[in-house]
Amino acid sequence: MRTLPAAFAAYKWAPSTEELARRVGLDPVDIVRFDGNVPGSPAASARPATVAAALARVNEYAHGGYPELLRAIADYAGVEPENIALGAGADDLILLCARAFAGPGDQAAIADEPTYPLFAIAVALAGAEVGTDDPVVTFCCRPNNPTGALDPLPVARPLVVDEAYWEYAGETAAGLINDGVIVLRTFSKAFGLAGARIGYALADTETAAELNRRQAPQQVSAISAALALAGLADLPDVTDQVEERDRLARALGALGLEPLPSRTNFLFVPVDDPESVGEALLRRGLVVRVFLDGIRFNVRDSEDDDLLLEGLAHVLERPAPVAPAGTRKTWVLRATAETRIRVRLSLDGASRVRISTGAGLYDHLLEQLAFHAGFDLVLEAVGDLETGPHHTVEDAALALGEALDRALGDRRGIARYGDAVVPMDDALARASIDLGGRAWADIRLEREPGLAQHALQSLAQTGRLALHVESTGTDEHHVAEAAFKAVGRALRTAVRAEGAGIPSTKGVL
Ligand code: PMP
Repeated sequence: MRTLPAAFAAYKWAPSTEELARRVGLDPVDIVRFDGNVPGSPAASARPATVAAALARVNEYAHGGYPELLRAIADYAGVEPENIALGAGADDLILLCARAFAGPGDQAAIADEPTYPLFAIAVALAGAEVGTDDPVVTFCCRPNNPTGALDPLPVARPLVVDEAYWEYAGETAAGLINDGVIVLRTFSKAFGLAGARIGYALADTETAAELNRRQAPQQVSAISAALALAGLADLPDVTDQVEERDRLARALGALGLEPLPSRTNFLFVPVDDPESVGEALLRRGLVVRVFLDGIRFNVRDSEDDDLLLEGLAHVLERPAPVAPAGTRKTWVLRATAETRIRVRLSLDGASRVRISTGAGLYDHLLEQLAFHAGFDLVLEAVGDLETGPHHTVEDAALALGEALDRALGDRRGIARYGDAVVPMDDALARASIDLGGRAWADIRLEREPGLAQHALQSLAQTGRLALHVESTGTDEHHVAEAAFKAVGRALRTAVRAEGAGIPSTKGVL
């Protein structure tokens, strides 16, 4: 084997979530990763139905490549399909560009330091050296990782511009592909498909053809191509992420920190002793990327980001700029062929509730339940709503029950019983709950909007609670809503932390 330069350092992946959890004695569900520069959830289009057709033909090669995907990328990027080379992520295309342009005896330049480490790795693997002596190619990361800066484009040519984060900045060099510029993009960031490993290069037709000639045959899988195509049909809107990044930057400022101005989905924050800050955050289940002079973390959503702010405040011994989330909290990710549900639940919350399943009425009902229970709850679902709301509603309630069970832990010290009567216009509901650990549901709704009873039964099943509900009235919506509110009120009492003991004369639940 040809020897690599003595200074060569292979790309270093962060440890798995399981490994990190083991290291600090936490459950893997309590680990929140801010270190991958990826969104907190997959794209809504990333669901089993999206890849079903590709799976049905997975025994075959994708003869003829992916013309439909090339067309969709071309439309998205404002080029022609002949301007595109596909790759297994932008990383694969960085390696492709390095070996296409550079070889032994050549120097390749890298604009900006610090920057993405794969450029130097790719240059070394191509047998070339990093340097500015008449470089055969220049690599540039724009916006830059890890700083987040959107610096001016270098004048050097040929120039490879890594635009992994371009969607967050809104500025691209794609207009310069006929002027010696090659643009690399990915579906890993704004499109939320990092695990699918798919990206593309944009170049003039001649360069694109040469890149394709040098690329491995069918480097991209049919499954990934299907996910990318679905993503392009339902384009990501990064506005919320950008707003959340700016909110996070302001909150960090309030903590006395000075994050670098960022045009991406992450922030770089200079801190003293980044290593120990990273370790202390990890002990709280929060994973950030540690650098020599600071830490870097991506935006997730306001609830996750508040955990990071709270953690940082604690580690730096400064007052937290956000309300604490309480200790009885948990995450649940429930994925089946029909639905994907993500739940974050804090029992000692402040009724901060955000539910989005696409099954409108049931979002409203679950929101009432969580609000009246006093929980902080985020419940997001992507389900096969084309078959009706049944799977989505059932799985959302099952996932919420699972989260409740998990957040209650061994149920030591809780009140255990709760009941409530809730009147609502024409409707009257009564709910009684036993959190003793045995699942039972006796739900009597005089009128039923469709799945209200089933949702409560599902909640009781995975939440391991005995639930008795009776609700009467003339309007089906009110009958169901009063019932969910009553269950919420009863839960509020039953989960209350009262002492340290097991709430049973048997001594066990
Ligand atoms: N370029 C930059 C600047 C990145 O930060 C990353 C991800 N860490 C990549 C490329 C890799 O992208 P992909 O997942 O498409 O290989």
